[in-house]
Amino acid sequence: MNSPAPVQGRPPQPAKQLYEQSKTVHNKRVDGPFRRFKWAIMVITLGIYYITPWVRWDRGPYAPDQAVLIDLAHRRFYMFGIEIWPHEFYFVAGLLIMAGIGLFLVTSAVGRAWCGYSCPQTVWTDLFQHIDRFIDGDRNARMRLDKAPWGPNKIARRLLKWTIYLVIAFWTGGAWIMYFADAPTLVREFWAGEADPVAYITVAVLTLTTFVLGGFMREQVCIYMCPWPRIQTALMDEKSLLVTYKDWRGEKRGSLKKAEKNPDLYGDCIDCNQCVAVCPTGWDIRKGPDISCITCGLCIDACDKVMKEVGRPRGLIDYATLEDCDAEKGGAPARSPMKAIMRPRTLVYFGIWASIGLALLFALGTRSHTDLSVSPDRNPPYMLLSDGSIRNAYTLRLRNMESRPREMLIAIEDLPGAVMWSDTIAAENAAPSQTVTVPADQTLTVRAYVSAPADTLPGDFAFTLTSLDEKGESDRTETGFNAPGGE
Ligand code: SF4
Ligand code: SF4
Repeated sequence: MNSPAPVQGRPPQPAKQLYEQSKTVHNKRVDGPFRRFKWAIMVITLGIYYITPWVRWDRGPYAPDQAVLIDLAHRRFYMFGIEIWPHEFYFVAGLLIMAGIGLFLVTSAVGRAWCGYSCPQTVWTDLFQHIDRFIDGDRNARMRLDKAPWGPNKIARRLLKWTIYLVIAFWTGGAWIMYFADAPTLVREFWAGEADPVAYITVAVLTLTTFVLGGFMREQVCIYMCPWPRIQTALMDEKSLLVTYKDWRGEKRGSLKKAEKNPDLYGDCIDCNQCVAVCPTGWDIRKGPDISCITCGLCIDACDKVMKEVGRPRGLIDYATLEDCDAEKGGAPARSPMKAIMRPRTLVYFGIWASIGLALLFALGTRSHTDLSVSPDRNPPYMLLSDGSIRNAYTLRLRNMESRPREMLIAIEDLPGAVMWSDTIAAENAAPSQTVTVPADQTLTVRAYVSAPADTLPGDFAFTLTSLDEKGESDRTETGFNAPGGE
């Protein structure tokens, strides 16, 4: 693109860059409290992701023994001692709402901590950057290798590195499908070529996306593709914690030599560039907060180390709110970042988040494991039997949400003189109530026939279902009884 022609009296303007080619980030190894925290989060999150499908949980002989399982075929979600049925999807919706509000809460309390520490893109990028370091060496060695012409050494290193990327990416995709079927069985079927085609497709897609997004696109996903940083900027204010360079303390920056010669002229920043060198996104925090900064705190670790070496106080780069920065600039002492966490907005988010959590726990603790639904036959609405009585037919669904078969009593309420039988209980044994065994963890469908005396008028009545065990759980469903007087 040509530079615009200079306007008289104004300096020539540089050409506008509509597209800038990305530069590979070769971040340097660093150690410090934030790096160690990142290590801990990486180990915990990856450990949870890869190991969870292999954790067993005994639910008795009638239910799967995988601790966390999304059983699509049987429409169940198992999570340790909790089993969610399709009609209880509100629990999943509640958890999703909690996750959303949890992100708001974290952003309000500690800024982009989700991005900096536990977002999958961050965790896998971090992992792949460690592999780069392991195979090719630290920052300078990697930069040299990048610039070096292709030769046997470079090809061998690249092949080795990409193979490791691919193994991790495949493992990542493979772990995902384990959440949807019994893990040991699925592994056997997968390698025997007997698994469902959707399992192979899912693994292929996730392998490819992990390989490309974690291995190559890395920080570009955060900066250009992910919508969350854009939403976060709307959630943050001058009281939100950010990673901040304290320019009033650091500027004018200059080398240690220059600063030693003219101490009054220079601030604390010795322009060593260590904060940029360690940054996983390649951002220079001295330019100010930006969408490129995922607030991982690694530049704090790097700068604190430099400050220690040159005998200056730590915290030239630190977690701080913009409000605290203004106060500090005006001479107030630095405030602990912990104090910024407790503020009304954070407490409101926490209150909403905790209330939803408590409501879900309450609903979970008090839910019944017995459920009854009734569908009356519409056509014909009733039949007149030879003895003059009136018969209606119903489809009952008896739900037993326990992992053991249970005896249950179905009874008729508010329909005087009515008796019932079913496809498996002969009409001669008709009675106002019947006992059935509902298999473990299943819904039993029963065709029920109810007959009432000839003079019965149309009206409402109810079926009740009571478990004949120590729990004595029950459910009641109202329905209608059709009879000639109603037409
Ligand atoms: S600027 Fe600092 S806090 Fe921000 S991403 Fe880079 S290293 Fe992390
Ligand atoms: S690490 Fe600290 S001293 Fe070095 S350039 Fe960055 S802000 Fe300045």
